[in-house]
Amino acid sequence: MPKTDLIIVGSGILGLATAFLAYRQGRTVRIIDRSARPVGSSIQNFGHACFTGQADEIQPLAMASRAGWQEAAAATGIWAAETGTFAPAMTEPELHILQEFAAHRGSDQVQMLDAGEVADAIGNPDLHAIGGAHLPLDMRVNPREAAPALATWLAREGVEFGWSTTVTEVAGGTVSTNRGDFHADQVVACPGLGLSALFPAIADAHEVRICTLVMSLIDRPQHLPSGFAMFTGTSMARYDGFAAMPGAAALREDLAQREPELVDAIANLMVTDIPGGLLIGDSHAYDLSPEPFIDEGIANLLLDRATTLLGIEEPVVLQRWLGQYTNSTNTNLILERPDDQTTVAAVTSGVGMTLSFGIAGRILNDLPLDSGAGTGASAESEPLAETPATFTTSTPTADEVVMSAR
Ligand SMILES: Cc1cc2nc3c(=O)[nH]c(=O)nc-3n(C[C@H](O)[C@H](O)[C@H](O)COP(=O)(O)OP(=O)(O)OC[C@H]3O[C@@H](n4cnc5c(N)ncnc54)[C@H](O)[C@@H]3O)c2cc1C
Repeated sequence: MPKTDLIIVGSGILGLATAFLAYRQGRTVRIIDRSARPVGSSIQNFGHACFTGQADEIQPLAMASRAGWQEAAAATGIWAAETGTFAPAMTEPELHILQEFAAHRGSDQVQMLDAGEVADAIGNPDLHAIGGAHLPLDMRVNPREAAPALATWLAREGVEFGWSTTVTEVAGGTVSTNRGDFHADQVVACPGLGLSALFPAIADAHEVRICTLVMSLIDRPQHLPSGFAMFTGTSMARYDGFAAMPGAAALREDLAQREPELVDAIANLMVTDIPGGLLIGDSHAYDLSPEPFIDEGIANLLLDRATTLLGIEEPVVLQRWLGQYTNSTNTNLILERPDDQTTVAAVTSGVGMTLSFGIAGRILNDLPLDSGAGTGASAESEPLAETPATFTTSTPTADEVVMSAR
C-alpha cells in the first residue's frame, strides 16, 4: 500500500472530522476501521451539537467546531440544522439559572422566552412552564447519517478506507493490522471505545471506562413542530456552562426533591428531533465491562418525563438502544503523543459530536506536517497550546447531578 501523509484509525466522527480537515488541507489520508461502516458512539447519540452549554474556557474550541460542522455540511451536503436548543423552565430554580446564564453569556447566545413562547416552540400549549430560553447557536445533525455520509463523501473524493480491518498496534508511522501493515508520516488514532485495547497504558492512566446510556426513538406526532431540540433541568445541572452559575446548587436541590428517580439514573433528560423521529434520553451508568441489558424502568422513566413535557399522550416507540461512549474519571479529552508520529485522541464524555471538528483542528495544528497543498478552506482551529487538553476533572456519581459536560 502506498504511504500516505496521514493514517486515521477510527471512522467515528472524531476520525472523520480529522480526515475531512486534513483532506481539505491537501493531505493524502487513509482511514482504517475494524467495522464495515460507522456504528460506534457517533451514530448512537442525540446528534446535538451543544456549543453554548460548554464551559466558558471551551467556547473558542466549541465555536471552531461549529465552523467545522458548517464547513462540512456546505461541502458534503450532510444535514446540519441551526435551530438552536429550547430550554423550558418548570420551576423557579430552573428559571433562575437560565436568567443567570443569559446575563453571563449575553443575548447572542441565550435568549430568554416567556411561558407562551417556550410552549409554542416545543408544541405543547399545556406545558405550564414559567419561562424558558433559546440557545440559538446550537445545532442538530442526524447521528444516523452524519458519519456515514461524511465517510461516503471522503471515499468519493479519493480518501482510502480500510473497512473491516482491526488495528493491533500503532508506532512510529506504522499501523499494524489483521490485514497487514500500513505506513504514514503521521498517525492519528481515534478509536473511541477501542482505546483500552489499543493503548492500554493511556487508558489506564485516565481510568477509562464505558458509559452506557438508555435511549429511545419515538414517532413524532403531527401536532409537534419539527426541528427542535429540548433541554430540561437535568441538562442545566449537567452541562458545565450552566453548572458554573451560582444558582446550580439550588437547582440540584430542587431536582433531588422533585425528580429523585431521574437523579438516581444520572439522567440528562433531553429530546432532539431528527428526520426519523424524536430522540429521547438519557441515563448514565459507568463500568469497565457493562452488561448489555436495557433497564425498562429507566427507559420508561425517561420516556414518561419527556413525553409529558411535550404533551404526547401515546408515544409510539420505534427503537430502544443502550448507547456507549468512552468515559474517564479525570478528564473529558485525551489528547496524547506517545511518539513523534502518533497522536491518540479520545473524547471521554458525551460531547464528541459537539467538539469533534474543533478537536480535529487542534490535532492537525499540532502535527509536524508540511503546510499542505489543498484548497486552503478549513475550519478555524485552535492551537493546542491555547485551549486545555483536559477540560474538567469532575467525577460523576449517582449522588452528584452536576458532572463533566454530558
Ligand atoms: C447515547 C449517546 C448520546 C450522546 N449524545 C451526544 C450529544 O448529544 N452531543 C455530543 O456532542 N455527543 C454526544 N454523545 C457522545 C458522542 O457520540 C461521542 O463523544 C462521539 O461519537 C465519539 O466519537 P469517536 O469518533 O471518538 O468514537 P466512535 O464513533 O465510537 O468511533 C470510534 C471508531 O474506532 C473504531 N475502532 C476502535 N478500535 C479500533 C481498532 N483497534 N482498529 C480499527 N478500528 C477501531 C471503531 O470501530 C469506531 O468506528 C453521545 C453518545 C451516546 C452514546
